[in-house]
Amino acid sequence: MKILKWVGIIVLVLGATAFTLFMIYVNPMMQKMKKTSVVNYDKDLTIVLGGGGNSGILTSDSLVIVIDTKMGDAAEQLSKKVKELAGSKPILVINTHFHSDHTGGNKFYKGQTIIAGGNYTKEEWTKQNGDEALPTQWLKDKMDIKMGSDTVTLFNIGKNVHTASDIVVYLHKRKMLFTGDIVLNKQTPALLGVADPDGYMYTFDMLPKLFDIQKIVPGHGEIGGIELIDNFRQYFVDMKTAATDDSKKDELVAKYKDWGQLPFFMSPGATIKVFKKKMQQ
Ligand SMILES: [Zn+2]
Repeated sequence: MKILKWVGIIVLVLGATAFTLFMIYVNPMMQKMKKTSVVNYDKDLTIVLGGGGNSGILTSDSLVIVIDTKMGDAAEQLSKKVKELAGSKPILVINTHFHSDHTGGNKFYKGQTIIAGGNYTKEEWTKQNGDEALPTQWLKDKMDIKMGSDTVTLFNIGKNVHTASDIVVYLHKRKMLFTGDIVLNKQTPALLGVADPDGYMYTFDMLPKLFDIQKIVPGHGEIGGIELIDNFRQYFVDMKTAATDDSKKDELVAKYKDWGQLPFFMSPGATIKVFKKKMQQ
């Protein structure tokens, strides 16, 4: 009986600790992620930040493009807005990658075209997202779409970066790049599965050579300029240094204390772990 009492106390203490950690660290971040804000960028471009990944709605006389479909309630709200803007025009959905905070609303676009990166297998996609709202087209390399007076380029990075198949979307006239989670603004990355810091570094170098970038809509966080790439590159450089030089670790981790984090999962510590694992390989 005495043992049972102690087990009970330990379970209670662990439960209370988990709840406290959740309320202090996880819940505010989750509430923050759920919130959306609408940027009416110009007549044909609306950007909806938050509610999962950031989204763009681009309209023309003949087509409406949606970049990333969000999650939960925000996904449904976005789809209503898109359908209102589209009327009878066809809708083209682009998923920058297969994480559910960017694909959660796909199910609201039944019968429309949904494009995602062609390096995923159908099985991998279904494992992440279920059967519902599977893409109808898999982009292996690059695609140009005429949208009124602008051209939209979809580009599959083609190697492991955030996932095995990340797509960026460039609006030529606006010199604007939607990066998905390859670039985040003041948020630490979730590096899961095949996510590869070397892939990020490669992409940070490649993107400004490929496109004339003046505006960046990151996967999460506020819209910015080309400096978003530089800031995110610096994060990876710093975490690599922290992984190799213990004496600099505390200072480098503290540098990012204002960035969005979730303990163990999205944090400087988690990124350092990925680097350390890579160095052991
Ligand atoms: Zn995301």
